[in-house]
Formats: sequence, structure tokens, C-alpha cells
Amino acid sequence: MSCIFCEIIERKRPAEIVYEDEKVLVFKDINPQAPIHLLIIPKKHITGIQEIKEDDIEIVGYMFFIARKIAEDLGINNYEKGYRLIFNVGKDAGQSIFHLHLHLIAGRKLNWPPG
Ligand code: AMP
Ligand code: ZN
Repeated sequence: MSCIFCEIIERKRPAEIVYEDEKVLVFKDINPQAPIHLLIIPKKHITGIQEIKEDDIEIVGYMFFIARKIAEDLGINNYEKGYRLIFNVGKDAGQSIFHLHLHLIAGRKLNWPPG
């Protein structure tokens, strides 16, 4: 089964990659919802939060850790600027790609409650 995000990891599909290590890849969202919109994905194919197992606790925590590190590099990891970290879980919540991804959205005032 082909997966767009696995193809990006394997460099079979282009993306604007901003960070990579042995566990995760971070790239710019192709359809940004704010001036900063990044996707943090595990290199392991997990379809979504729906299927995370106890063994995945470490990678999910690591995704948040990397999000925080990137936010720090961008100067937004503070109480004034800030950013939003989102997992869309299931189609009703807006999930359209079934490879786990954490959205990092920032660079403008974000509304609450979300739509
Ligand atoms: P979601 O709707 O939560 O599943 O998020 C999927 C995100 O992936 C959307 O924000 C899309 O804009 C983004 N996206 C889809 N295809 C690509 C791609 N080839 N490169 C970068 N981002 C993508
Ligand atoms: Zn995948």
C-alpha cells in the first residue's frame, strides 16, 4: 500500500524538509494554514493515533520533544508567541493522510475554539 509520507521519507516524493534524524522527519505542509505550518512524522509507518501501541509511547513523546525544539529555534517557544500542536484523529476531525503526523502551526493569532 503506497503512503505519501513514506514516499517523502524515502525521497520518492519532494518536500521542503526542515529537520531529520533517525526517528523523525519534519517538513513544510504543502497547504499551510498559517505562516508557519510544519508536519512532524515518525519514520515508522503508524496510520494514526488510532493505532498507537505501548511500544509507540517513546516515538510519540519524541515527536512532541522535536516540535518543542523546532519552536525554540523559531523563537516561538514562549508564553507570548506560541504555537499549536495538533493530531487530527479520524476523518471527522480532518485527518486526510493515514501516516501519523503532528501539525506545528504558528505565525499568526490562532482562534479558539478551533473550527
Ligand atoms: P491531516 O488533514 O491532519 O491528515 O493533515 C495532512 C496534511 O498533509 C494536510 O495539512 C496537507 O496539506 C498535508 N499534505 C498533503 N500532502 C502533502 C505533501 N505532499 N507534502 C506536504 N504536505 C502535504
Ligand atoms: Zn507511511
